[in-house]
Amino acid sequence: MTKADIVIIGGSAAGLTAAISARRTYPKKKTLLIRQEKQVLIPCGIPYIFGTVGSPEKNLIPDAALEKNGIELLIAQAKKIDRKKKIVETTEGDVEYERLIVSTGSVPVMPPIPGFDRDGVMAIIKDVAFLREMQQRTEKAKNIVIVGGGFIGIEMADEINKLGGKSITIVELFPHCLSLAYDEEFCIEMEEVIRARGIAIRTGTKVVAINGNSAVESVQLSDGTELEADLVVMAIGAAANVDLARDAGLHIGLTGSIAVDRTMRTSDECIYACGDCAEKVSFFGGGPSPLKLASIATLEARIAGANVYGVKRESPGTVGVWSTAVGDVALGTAGLTEAMAKKRGYEVVAVSLEGPNRHPGIMPGAANTKLKLVFEANSGVLVGGQVRGDSTAGEISNIISACIQKRMTAEDIAMFQMGTQPALTASPVAYPLVNLAEMAIAQMGRN
Ligand SMILES: Cc1cc2nc3c(=O)[nH]c(=O)nc-3n(C[C@H](O)[C@H](O)[C@H](O)COP(=O)(O)OP(=O)(O)OC[C@H]3O[C@@H](n4cnc5c(N)ncnc54)[C@H](O)[C@@H]3O)c2cc1C
Repeated sequence: MTKADIVIIGGSAAGLTAAISARRTYPKKKTLLIRQEKQVLIPCGIPYIFGTVGSPEKNLIPDAALEKNGIELLIAQAKKIDRKKKIVETTEGDVEYERLIVSTGSVPVMPPIPGFDRDGVMAIIKDVAFLREMQQRTEKAKNIVIVGGGFIGIEMADEINKLGGKSITIVELFPHCLSLAYDEEFCIEMEEVIRARGIAIRTGTKVVAINGNSAVESVQLSDGTELEADLVVMAIGAAANVDLARDAGLHIGLTGSIAVDRTMRTSDECIYACGDCAEKVSFFGGGPSPLKLASIATLEARIAGANVYGVKRESPGTVGVWSTAVGDVALGTAGLTEAMAKKRGYEVVAVSLEGPNRHPGIMPGAANTKLKLVFEANSGVLVGGQVRGDSTAGEISNIISACIQKRMTAEDIAMFQMGTQPALTASPVAYPLVNLAEMAIAQMGRN
């Protein structure tokens, strides 16, 4: 029987990060990672397989990180966790553990729409062979319907559109694409960018049936429209993969994920869980959080890996920071939108501005950047921010996220010393983050 001190199940964002973190914290402990696939995809890179990167094989997490960190690898499927004997039964034999980290991730949600099982209806499964087939079908398809206008839906639409000669329609239930993470003004701008690239968008309607004989031929919408389709891509979310944990008797939480405390420990004191399979609470108020993001998965993994032999870290809850891009236009978000904050009962002060991210604004590479910050009115604490701009939007939303996590107030942000340079940043006189904080302070003073 194989034996290791720390055993991790799952080798994607959470599993790999947890293994590295465990080795860094406990270098003398033998650490073994069990994963079912030979090659692991970079999950966030999947949409780019279809238009930019070219194949699933060009979008892989290299195994070098395992070797470099002295992590042993077993390619096998974990079939059962025997908690009494502290054994993981796998397709390649039993593995005994002292501490176990479960990072079995998530699987795409397939709604029970009549006809969803027709040939040509595909969810995005994180598997090389599956995506190779999906890529071939995408290349042949003429009329493609993408169900879901979240960031995965729009990235898939834009990448497939790069192949040319296809009619692509995004169908979104809410009034706008991306509306779970951006305020309306940002959503509308991005929808305009998407439409200008030749992709149709139908919002405020849902798919009620997928028609055809054996293969899909059309998609029926609740507003009565029927869209011709020979390929339907489902991008409406993911559900935690908890079968192994549930069968082992680990507690399952309110959102159907593996219940964990803030140290990422499950209901078994020797078993930890992290990533898409683990239950999450929101940074804002501590209620259950449905978010599933690589930023959260890897944070939880760094907590679980460090804590397996004693508590060193605790999760503050999900902030929700991510970005997306269509062509040259990028959006970034962190924390609560203005609409979301109000819905949750916060009294807010929201401030926005737009300006070039170089100075003077005629400098090469300058892009107009729109920034919005949302502060809690009473305390002045930052609870959210959104940005629309060029590729810098991703890192700007990361800065906003750091400010939120440290519960910075408008006054803290107004006191930033920001490094500036004409060819690289906005003007120091009107640096957007600082300027917005000053605007918010003035507004709060008036209230
Ligand atoms: C198309 C797409 C694009 C995305 N883009 C972004 C993005 O831009 N930014 C962002 O923050 N997030 C993004 N996400 C979300 C992000 O990819 C996930 O949050 C992240 O992959 C979670 O990592 P994980 O390791 O918890 O789970 P997963 O990536 O689901 O990995 C779980 C792993 O465990 C393995 N496994 C499961 N069961 C067993 C078993 N019994 N035995 C052995 N192995 C097992 C699986 O095969 C899999 O490799 C995207 C997701 C998708 C699908």
